[in-house]
Formats: sequence, structure tokens, C-alpha cells
Amino acid sequence: MSDDRSAPDDPVEKLLRSARNEAVDEQFHVTGVMMQYYEVCERELWFASRHLEIDRDNPAVVQGTQVDDDAYAEKRRNVSIDGTIAIDVLDDGRILEVKPSSSLVEPAKLQLLYYLWYLDRVVGVEREGVLAHPTERRRESVELSDANAEWVEESIRGVHRVVTGDSPPPADEKPFCDSCAYHDFCWSC
Ligand code: SF4
Repeated sequence: MSDDRSAPDDPVEKLLRSARNEAVDEQFHVTGVMMQYYEVCERELWFASRHLEIDRDNPAVVQGTQVDDDAYAEKRRNVSIDGTIAIDVLDDGRILEVKPSSSLVEPAKLQLLYYLWYLDRVVGVEREGVLAHPTERRRESVELSDANAEWVEESIRGVHRVVTGDSPPPADEKPFCDSCAYHDFCWSC
């Protein structure tokens, strides 16, 4: 566990102060996608933080984008906050996150929880979330409980640790490496 919790240089404090445009030595912003990458693969997060281009011809990436763009198009509106997070808001006020498959449900849940946390801590608005898997016709309600808020904040600290690293974390083979946009950076000889 981080020992700099509540200290001025705690990444969570740094993120909150950056979002409020308060003076900080170094701006620190975290997008929802960064949270998802952190949960999926820390090495993937590091590559993405260096703005390495994602492979849009990768079938898995294309599928994910298409599902996200098409699902629930009539029932939601997209809202950008602080230029950092972009959320989909349903007519009933809940925050929607759409994923093409439940195979990576924890990363999607963490991303959605981060949106709920950001809304609560930065904007001052409490919201519930819904994680939708349209291809499986399944929905899951998500709430920012104390335990989930703790998960989000520990993940923010983890994101900061990864993206401020001088080199990527070592490659650690995962079931979805074959469909990862950075596959060639990890497994080509
Ligand atoms: S190929 Fe695997 S180890 Fe490499 S960045 Fe992607 S998920 Fe991570």
C-alpha cells in the first residue's frame, strides 16, 4: 500500500488539485481509458502514456469501437468534463459504460467507477452507473461504495507509478495479448 496517502504529493491529491486548477508542481490528469489500461495491463498503460499509435486495423479494437459507438445511441448523450473524461449519460441520469464483452469486466467496471468518483469528488455530483454488455444482453448496476472508491484511489496511485516510470513494466503474457494493439512491442522476436 502507498505510504504517501494524504501527503501533498499523493497522486490522488495531485489529481484533485489539477482538476480544480489549483497550483501543483506537476499537472496530473487521468482519463477513463488510462484506468482501464491499468487494470488490463500496466505495460499497455505505459505504452499508451507515450502516445504510441493504437492499431485501428486490429479486429478487436475495431469491434470494440463499433459496439461503443452504436449501442444505446438514442438513449444517451456524451458529456466531456474538464477535457479529461468523456461520459455517456442516460436519460435517467445514470452513467453508462458499454463494453463488447464481459471477458474484461473488471477493467470496464474500474473505468466506470472512476467516472463516478470524478463526478463525486471533482464535480460534486453523485451518480449511479450501469455497465452494459449489449452483445450479451446484460446490464450491471455499479455504485461508488467506500470500497469501490478505495479501489479507484489505489488505482490512481498505481497509474501515477506506471506513467512516471522511465521504462515500461516487463511483458507478462495474458490471454488477450494476441488482440492487444501493442502485441508486436512485446512478443516479436
Ligand atoms: S501484448 Fe500483452 S503484455 Fe504486451 S502490452 Fe499488450 S496486454 Fe500487455
